[in-house]
Amino acid sequence: MTQRAMAIVGAGHVGGRAAQALREAGWQGRIVLVGAEPHWPYERPPLSKGLLTGERAAQQCALRAPQAWRDDHIERLHARVLALDPARRTLTLDTGGMLAHVAHLDYEALLLATGGHVRRLAVPVSAAASARVLYLRTLDDAAAIAPRLAPGARLAVVGGGFIGLEVAASARSRGCEVTVIEGGPRLLGRAVPEALAAQVHALHARNGVRIVLGAAVQAIEAHANGALAVLHGSGESADSVEADTVVVGIGIEPADEIARAAGLAVERGILVDETLQTSAPGIYAAGDVAVFPSRFGAHRLRQETWHNAETQARVAAHNLLGAREVYRELPWFWSDQYDHQLQVAGEPALARQTVVRALDGNTQIRFDFADERRAGHDGHVPRLVAASGFGPANALAKEMRVARMLVEREVTAAPAVLADAAVKLKSLLA
Ligand SMILES: Cc1cc2nc3c(=O)[nH]c(=O)nc-3n(C[C@H](O)[C@H](O)[C@H](O)COP(=O)(O)OP(=O)(O)OC[C@H]3O[C@@H](n4cnc5c(N)ncnc54)[C@H](O)[C@@H]3O)c2cc1C
Repeated sequence: MTQRAMAIVGAGHVGGRAAQALREAGWQGRIVLVGAEPHWPYERPPLSKGLLTGERAAQQCALRAPQAWRDDHIERLHARVLALDPARRTLTLDTGGMLAHVAHLDYEALLLATGGHVRRLAVPVSAAASARVLYLRTLDDAAAIAPRLAPGARLAVVGGGFIGLEVAASARSRGCEVTVIEGGPRLLGRAVPEALAAQVHALHARNGVRIVLGAAVQAIEAHANGALAVLHGSGESADSVEADTVVVGIGIEPADEIARAAGLAVERGILVDETLQTSAPGIYAAGDVAVFPSRFGAHRLRQETWHNAETQARVAAHNLLGAREVYRELPWFWSDQYDHQLQVAGEPALARQTVVRALDGNTQIRFDFADERRAGHDGHVPRLVAASGFGPANALAKEMRVARMLVEREVTAAPAVLADAAVKLKSLLA
């Protein structure tokens, strides 16, 4: 009889860390990582930064050295999972090749770590243009973009979110001419408070990036002279941006299709409880694909961040082994652009009151509070739910580390105290 394995679908950040954590936690049976990409797990943050600026090589993105996987006897199957049968505890795989080859894998317990698929532009892209309209999610995507960022090359970035702006910053540092085309009224409309997004906008403008807001892309065509034209707007506001290459960064869709087809609860991502278990016993989900309960209330959230991948992977691995650990990590992410950094800890979307702690002209941290009140030294104070900061990376990092701890520990301090730059944040930790 085949020994049933701990199976992980998706050999990305979560998949890799979870496999490692299973071994570290003492699981001695098989661990099989099934991944559609032809690589051992790697970290994605450098793909839009060091890998494009040339400061990092592909091997430096690896989650672990290749030998470490072999030493831990972790198996990697380069295959796409087509279906999942929770009752039989079996996966159906397409192992590819010239003739699609279908195989089956029986599992003991299962982790779904399928991440997300890049959202594609739903507008006409002419055949002559399509080879130069690129997306960025994988190592192979980054390897295709990097050589195009030669000095003087014209780059149009569609999407003013994190990925688009990081690509813009990397391309500027390589001497490209960059235009960012954003459909919404401002940059970073999804996850960043408006005032911080305005500072990010100003930073890009100072660095020579042209930013076009409120510009819905209508089509991408190739001119006879070889240049691409990104057509946007309509009627009187119709316009176009000329480019040699277009990089599209308009978000991802959670890769929840096999979970949905298997009858698991799915709602723009795979629904999990506080132990990261899906609606099917013995099947867990983590990372970009998982929709999990917030520590701040009855709502759920999905995070597309390194920290979420790193921490959920470990909890899920322990729970695959029966630990029933509860996931309560504070959401946190960073983005590096030029020599600046943006960090967001907690859930700014819950803000009912915000105070600004100005560290100097260039650096600030914003603290967000929810309506709910907590008993503190200063009587009842609103509940601290987020801290977001932006500034030169060195200046920001030290202060944000403490700010993040304050939110993590849900310290009860009056908003005015947090706003007062004369009060040392560290003193509030006690
Ligand atoms: C360019 C870029 C820059 C980033 N920068 C930052 C940053 O600065 N800060 C930050 O906090 N976060 C950043 N992130 C986000 C962070 O990298 C992700 O949140 C993290 O990689 C998510 O890990 P995951 O394992 O959930 O998904 P992924 O790493 O996407 O892994 C999922 C894997 O599952 C595979 N898969 C999917 N479906 C199947 C299937 N049916 N069968 C087999 N395999 C399948 C996919 O091929 C993929 O390899 C960045 C992401 C990108 C793309």
